[in-house]
Amino acid sequence: MTSCEHCTKASTSRWHGGYQMHCAGCRARACARSLAAFHALDAKGSGDKEPLRAMVRRLLPGMPEIDARRAVRDWWLRDREHIGIE
Ligand SMILES: [Zn+2]
Repeated sequence: MTSCEHCTKASTSRWHGGYQMHCAGCRARACARSLAAFHALDAKGSGDKEPLRAMVRRLLPGMPEIDARRAVRDWWLRDREHIGIE
């Protein structure tokens, strides 16, 4: 998983919104912060996982799907760890 200065900042603040398209970490974070991720992963979402899977395949091509999904889930969880401390 590549990362960049935006990923470093975003790892300590869920409000940091910088992205670079050439960075796989940024693309995984874009997936994790999407409405598709909300519906797939949040208890209040619709539970429909296919839009997120399609987004992950589109934004993280060439990465094994299990690794791509793990990267997205890591960002999702990291963002939620920060709820309550900011
Ligand atoms: Zn990045």
